[in-house]
Amino acid sequence: MARINEHFRKLQAGYLFPEIGRRVRQFTDANPDAKVIRLGIGDVTLPLAPAIVEALREASAEMGTEDGFHGYGPENGYEFLVEAIREHDFASRGVAIEADEIFVSDGSKQDSGNIQEIFGVDCRFAVTDPVYPVYVDTNVMAGRTGAADDDGRYEGVTYLPATAENGFMPGPPDARVDIAYLCSPNNPTGAVASRENLAAWVAWARANDAVLIFDAAYDAFIQDPSLPRSIYEIDGARECAIEMRSFSKRAGFTGVRCAYTVIPREVTGSTVSGERVPLRDLWSRRHATKFNSVPYIIQRGAAAVFSPEGQKQTREQVAYYMANAELLRSGLGAAGFTCHGGEHAPYVWVRTPEELTSWDCFDRLLEGAHVVCTPGSGFGASGEGYFRISAFNSRENVEEAISRVSRVFA
Ligand SMILES: *Cc1c(COP(=O)(O)O)cnc(C)c1O
Repeated sequence: MARINEHFRKLQAGYLFPEIGRRVRQFTDANPDAKVIRLGIGDVTLPLAPAIVEALREASAEMGTEDGFHGYGPENGYEFLVEAIREHDFASRGVAIEADEIFVSDGSKQDSGNIQEIFGVDCRFAVTDPVYPVYVDTNVMAGRTGAADDDGRYEGVTYLPATAENGFMPGPPDARVDIAYLCSPNNPTGAVASRENLAAWVAWARANDAVLIFDAAYDAFIQDPSLPRSIYEIDGARECAIEMRSFSKRAGFTGVRCAYTVIPREVTGSTVSGERVPLRDLWSRRHATKFNSVPYIIQRGAAAVFSPEGQKQTREQVAYYMANAELLRSGLGAAGFTCHGGEHAPYVWVRTPEELTSWDCFDRLLEGAHVVCTPGSGFGASGEGYFRISAFNSRENVEEAISRVSRVFA
């Protein structure tokens, strides 16, 4: 008898995006002429930058030649990409990362979901609330939690409410936890961690022998150069932090697939007998066993993000989205909404008007404005009373959405 992994049964049934899809379909079936504007799911909308397309094309042609053919690549990524990452994402900000501390992968969703495998099943973990659901659900699957309560909170997880009072950047917990997931710039709240925020987390992790898992998928959206882009800009982070970055949002790679994880060799975990083991070695072993490297063609495309033209073109794309975010903030603000985030992230986190629940507000926006947002409560109990609106769309749609939404609650 093939018994199933019972932990999967604890997962909450109505996952957020399928439920949004169901409600939107129901609406469009009943209103086939409505021009629905989707500012819900966090996917990019601009086409790939020309420098990237050119690199993908060239690498494809190369693969069709005897000299240029590439089979299985190095497990942790081709040197040309790893070196470009070291130079542009770290050395340029004064951070030294060794080549063998970087693991190129096909996505940060996978990496942030898989990283929990290298930890003991009895490790306790903390997440902010609201949160990117992958961190929690993968730990549920692994058996690191109990059942969910009526609010969708799993027993045994330390939730750190991200609220207007703490600037949506909660500090470390008092409770004893071994692993904490952080995401800055944040999905869904659009908040960004300051140097002081991250320094407090690093100090806590070192004092408590805990590991930080820092998801920097949106680092390219940080507008203020004095804000940290990498957690390794904070002293001591090399001893306690794992960082994840993705080409998805910064360069439109959501359908191309390339990302990487950094684990400095100083980050260690403990065996039962108290021996210290570098987490880097465990991840390396896992990566080599379960992953067979990102395609050569894709890695060439990713490396083109760092070429002078690639940098210029992808910066322009980020600037385009950030101008949308600014329009959303100012436009919805002028219409009386209380808006957070959107200054260093492509998401604006908006308080629902009239004390509506997140889902009631979602329905009002869909029916009244034909605009799709993401209900804040779908990201966690503390997201109740908020909705997330995404800057990933055309300028025209964003402007139209603002004007329609403003009329609904006028
Ligand atoms: C989009 C996103 C990612 C990136 O995922 P990929 O698998 O690299 O596309 C990672 N973390 C968060 C919080 C995200 O929103």
